[in-house]
Amino acid sequence: MFNLVIFGPPGSGKGTQSEYIIKKYGLVHLSTGDLLRAEMSSGSELGNKIKKLIDRGELVSDELVQQMVKNFVLKNIDSKGFIFDGFPRTTAQAAWLDDMLAEISQCVTLMLALDVDENELRTRILERGKISGRADDQNVDIINNRIAVYHKQTQPVINFYTAQSKFVLVNGIGSLDDVFARICAAMDKAK
Ligand code: UDP
Ligand code: MG
Repeated sequence: MFNLVIFGPPGSGKGTQSEYIIKKYGLVHLSTGDLLRAEMSSGSELGNKIKKLIDRGELVSDELVQQMVKNFVLKNIDSKGFIFDGFPRTTAQAAWLDDMLAEISQCVTLMLALDVDENELRTRILERGKISGRADDQNVDIINNRIAVYHKQTQPVINFYTAQSKFVLVNGIGSLDDVFARICAAMDKAK
């Protein structure tokens, strides 16, 4: 399997680039944000709890996200590999992911971080909010908190993969094709 962690702050282009990667490499896309939003829109009790956290820009608990990830991986165990998009978001989740993959004799192949400056992130998120209707993309306070949560809880995940020599930083500014070409170069090197 080729298991890619696509990493970066909110609005860095993880979801968009994942679509290109799926087409070229045939990987299965696992976006925890998308899974959480699906649960949210089902209107379940769990979905309502998730909504409260997302509407504040806070993280959903490690346990809940990990359970979702495990279910998804086991359901797609015959795939060529996964793109983990938006996960792991904490170092505890990163350690858990290693253990879970080890149980199925797999590991993370590469962690690609998209590098985009904060002004550009804010512009992109607000633009996306106009189209997607996502409430957390339309409110400046929520966006600011998501970026703060990223710096505090998520950015340390870089150290985790750097220690395993799996971390590669990719310039996330430029045309979709340019960024994708950089991603392909990093992936082809890691294969
Ligand atoms: N979220 C979370 N854990 C995850 C994925 C998402 O808690 O593993 C929540 C968090 O509140 C985040 C929101 O869902 O701000 C949106 O996540 P998504 O990954 O869709 O946003 P992106 O980073 O792609 O802009
Ligand atoms: Mg996303």
